[in-house]
Amino acid sequence: MFHAPDFTQLSAQISATTQEDVEQALASSHLSTDNLAALLSSAAEPYLQQMAQNASTITQTRFGRTTQLYAPIYLSNYCTNRCAYCGFSADNIFKRKCLTLDEAEKEAMILHDRGFQHILLVSGEAENAVDVEYMEAIARRLRDKFAAVSIEIQPMSTEDYHRLFLAGITAVAVYQETYDRDLYKTVHLSGKKSDYDYRLETPARAAESGMREVGIGALLGLADWRAEGLAIGYHLAWLRKKFWSTSFTVSFPRMRPAAGEFEPLQIVSEQNLSQLIFALRLFDQDVGLIVSTREEARYRDGMLGLGPTRYSAGSCTAPGGYSDSSHEGEQFSVGDHRSLEEVCAAIRAKGFDPVYKDWDSEFQAESL
Ligand code: SF4
Repeated sequence: MFHAPDFTQLSAQISATTQEDVEQALASSHLSTDNLAALLSSAAEPYLQQMAQNASTITQTRFGRTTQLYAPIYLSNYCTNRCAYCGFSADNIFKRKCLTLDEAEKEAMILHDRGFQHILLVSGEAENAVDVEYMEAIARRLRDKFAAVSIEIQPMSTEDYHRLFLAGITAVAVYQETYDRDLYKTVHLSGKKSDYDYRLETPARAAESGMREVGIGALLGLADWRAEGLAIGYHLAWLRKKFWSTSFTVSFPRMRPAAGEFEPLQIVSEQNLSQLIFALRLFDQDVGLIVSTREEARYRDGMLGLGPTRYSAGSCTAPGGYSDSSHEGEQFSVGDHRSLEEVCAAIRAKGFDPVYKDWDSEFQAESL
């Protein structure tokens, strides 16, 4: 089991960094967690340009001049948890919706016809609306139409993840939201999600189930982003050691305006986000780094090739939002409103290739 280091100690470790530590980290080809702490520190800020150059070289060597593309489909905004920062929180009163299998397939086919080959099925956490049987049924309908079908839903047991893997799901994303155990308690007011350790163990259960890819991350805007970055590094290194054949990704969701009164507890600037992305790229050369449409077009275009490997595009965060343009009941409003075609044109204009498909289920005989 992964034991998250004490969050206060992570912050202290980062604060103790000197410029010599940063220079030593930049000169290393295989970074330790101490090196990662140095690159996340304020002492590393004068070296951002060099970090960007090193991150760019590594990213383009490992992944080529490419950016993978995907789109989320929101299946349901029912949720039994009370997360202080989220528009889907059980506290918020609005008309909830869970797509039928036909409605989910219709949403998926809209994205399919727009050219997407990788979709991410997202839902609030309410087992009475979205359970393993429902997800299995959707996966069986979609698996032959898409190269990759990922999920971001409530944490499940290893057995249930394995059922979904056999039904055609290829990847699981589950974010710890914050690795700060004390803060976690104060923002996860009730519901299953208030169990910090169960959530922390979820990526390992997903990897154990046979999933090809597992995504982790923290919600930026809750706790000290530098310490979150170091905690992610420790978690990633532990997962890699234990599940060497699984691919891993890290996402960087920065808080966006959402229903309710919640204001970010920490400001995370675009410069901070860039430093975090560069530091993790230098720490783990093969990890997939995902920047979603939470970020604005200008920022996403500027980061092409500098660390991120995957972008979402043309996204809507409300169930049924691709069929119904009212976007009623969305989780948050996006920052990049461009269509898939516009995002692809911007990627090509920078000399990169958009990639719709980087996997084929033929490689994964057990799921057929
Ligand atoms: S963050 Fe997830 S679990 Fe929490 S209220 Fe929102 S949808 Fe539910």
